[in-house]
Amino acid sequence: MLELIIRNGAIGGESGVFTGDVAIADGQIVAVGNEVTGNGQTEIDATGLHLFPGVIDAHVHFNEPGRAGWEGFVTGTQALAAGGATVCFDMPLNAHPPTLDGASFEHKRVALEGVSWTDIALWGGLVPGNLDRMEELAACGVVGFKAFMSNSGIDDFPAADDLTLYEGMMRAAELGLIVAVHAESEALTGRLAARAIAAGKTTARDYLRSRPAIAEIEAIGRALLLAEETGCALHIVHVSTGRGVALVAAARARGVDVSCETCPHYLVLTEDDLETLGAVAKCAPPLRAAAVRDALWSGLLDGDLSMVASDHSPAPPDLKSGDDFFRVWGGISGCQSLLPLLLTDGYHRRHLPLPVIADITAGYVARRFRLPEKGRLAPGADADVTLVDLDAGFTLNRDDLFYRHKHSPYVGRRFRGRVVRTILRGVTTLLDGKIVSPPVGRLIRPVSSPL
Ligand code: ZN
Repeated sequence: MLELIIRNGAIGGESGVFTGDVAIADGQIVAVGNEVTGNGQTEIDATGLHLFPGVIDAHVHFNEPGRAGWEGFVTGTQALAAGGATVCFDMPLNAHPPTLDGASFEHKRVALEGVSWTDIALWGGLVPGNLDRMEELAACGVVGFKAFMSNSGIDDFPAADDLTLYEGMMRAAELGLIVAVHAESEALTGRLAARAIAAGKTTARDYLRSRPAIAEIEAIGRALLLAEETGCALHIVHVSTGRGVALVAAARARGVDVSCETCPHYLVLTEDDLETLGAVAKCAPPLRAAAVRDALWSGLLDGDLSMVASDHSPAPPDLKSGDDFFRVWGGISGCQSLLPLLLTDGYHRRHLPLPVIADITAGYVARRFRLPEKGRLAPGADADVTLVDLDAGFTLNRDDLFYRHKHSPYVGRRFRGRVVRTILRGVTTLLDGKIVSPPVGRLIRPVSSPL
């Protein structure tokens, strides 16, 4: 007998959407079809619901161990499950110690096991001075190496200078792992910020002016040159401009192994919203003008932009308030809203096809980061399934948030497309807004050769 059968769900595939069943045994999908025969120990009636592969959020900052007062694996992964996610990749900088060697990887592994509601892969860090630790991080099973081209905001995670990036990419290429960069020019942003602060100009607009689009575009161009030179696979995190996406697409067309992601906040908020919403909407790179936002949607629609991640970067409330925009923490709490935002503003408002949403939130991410068991509703894959009521509307309330600190620029926002149930390896983690399972998430590692 099968462990679980999900009946009569709408399933999106390359040939369109059909109504069918998903059969699950031992935490894996064993059949997908118009009518799966046999019985399951449990059967879920998904009539009227759309089935997505569980969201893989490749970019979150959960701060544990060492900075758990900001966010933690319990609250962070519960929020992810509430947003339909079954996997996340945790960034290396916000834990203390940061994930820069095998010992710190082990600290984080211990911190996350038994307290997480999603599977978790870990990013290793690339900073000046840890090149000789990249091999042991690779052996631990990092999903890639993250480097900052500008100040990270964390003192013990310094920015990678060009030599560190160059040599780190050579090393990563040998190890067969991706380097991900926060691409903003420190030479431009650092000087512009210092000049503004010295002049007492610290409003939202002053902050926006200190991080112009060219700072991102220059840094992406430099990272692409280094990746092309070294043969390293490159990923640009949180691209905020269409020009940045176009640079990446052009490099890919000439054979550079490069990908990029954008984040929901660049797709649904603009620089005007920063003035309205205040500190809660501060991020780096910053929010952009409406025309720039629209170019990102075009990238998703035409396929140049193949991935969306939340960059969930929480902080205690005292660091997300005040009028001095250079002192406020630069990070947005948003992982719980990633999929609902793409459904509301993408599917309903801009006709972004559902299979594209499944690919940019799961399928592509699993292929790019070599997780063959993830990201697909197909036999042999892990039974990571998200059931969504596409037409259900809701207003996000502060109390709906699972984050340790219940702030988000999306509080009060009207959504259309609600996550009803999230299933991780056959276990329902979230049902109707409540966590209903033990913490069944595990550490996962990429396979060693490209898919
Ligand atoms: Zn980030």
